Amino acid sequence: MTRLSAITPSGHVQLGNYLGAVRRWATQGTEQDVYFISDLHGMTTPHNPQRLRSLTREQLAVLLAAGVEPRSVFVQSDLVRELGALTWVLECTCTYGEAARMIQFREKAAGQSSVRLGLLTYPVLMAADILLQGADEVPVGEDQAQHVELARALARRFNGTYGEVFVVPNPVTPPSAARVRDLSDPSRKMAKSAEDSAGVVFVLDPPELVERKVRRAVTDNLGQLRYAPQTQPGLANLLEILAACTGKAPAELADSVGSYAELKNAVAEAVVEELRPIRAATMALLDDPAELDRIRAAGAVRARERSQHRLAAALRLSGIG
Ligand code: ATP
Ligand code: MG
Repeated sequence: MTRLSAITPSGHVQLGNYLGAVRRWATQGTEQDVYFISDLHGMTTPHNPQRLRSLTREQLAVLLAAGVEPRSVFVQSDLVRELGALTWVLECTCTYGEAARMIQFREKAAGQSSVRLGLLTYPVLMAADILLQGADEVPVGEDQAQHVELARALARRFNGTYGEVFVVPNPVTPPSAARVRDLSDPSRKMAKSAEDSAGVVFVLDPPELVERKVRRAVTDNLGQLRYAPQTQPGLANLLEILAACTGKAPAELADSVGSYAELKNAVAEAVVEELRPIRAATMALLDDPAELDRIRAAGAVRARERSQHRLAAALRLSGIG
């Protein structure tokens, strides 16, 4: 069974990425799973080349530091030739209407005056990511579910038209992972590409900065220490973060603290302690570029080996290669 997940280097890894995804990849992932840094997806909107390169490296280091199995991890662009070839074949399996119908494309394109063609075709690249690796399961949130449906449709269509090559992937709902909210605006989820990072805790933030961000978190003036996500979303978010770090229930934690300030202190301390070893291990990896390069290269070799026969068959059956 192969499960596939990715993180896009559109910003520094934030606490939500860690508690909601990376930590699970590290604790529940197996050697068959595939985790990659989707740097090619980071080019679908205007990007800075140096920043893309350094964020890719940094995210790779964070994943490894967090304990994700190194043999499962690779950088997407290390397979750019393979993915480019398969993406073309799949673009010629996909219709324009199917791509143009993607809700995420319509939403993201609506806010831009000049839309990169890659933003339209990116779900096909995502299908190539999934199908090339032969993933059985793709854990996704609602925003990506339609893209996995597209990958399923393309796998079926290819298999039916040219011959059985691809595993038809299943979208799975990730185990109710914490949805961490922005500390300064609890109506938004915490995101690494947020324009204002005052309410975003990054995994590599120094402890003092984590403490400051938590202390400034928006709560309410009801003065009621209870777990009420609807009416007290800021407080609920802090309780959920503390719950994710301690393994206790949010409501139980609400009963155990005496004031908002005490809760914030507890959250700051728990987050700092949770992130401390990952931050240290990430720094160590970034300080040892040769070691990071070695792990990266080995991951790429393994990802290429895992996919080679499928790519060769797809090219041959579609009349090329
Ligand atoms: P972007 O702003 O670029 O969309 P992001 O922070 O939303 O960045 P993604 O690359 O979209 O991060 O997602 C990487 C992984 O982190 C996914 O599995 C996603 O579900 C998870 N994730 C992202 N944000 C949160 C959050 N606030 N709480 C829990 N999980 C999250
Ligand atoms: Mg996102």
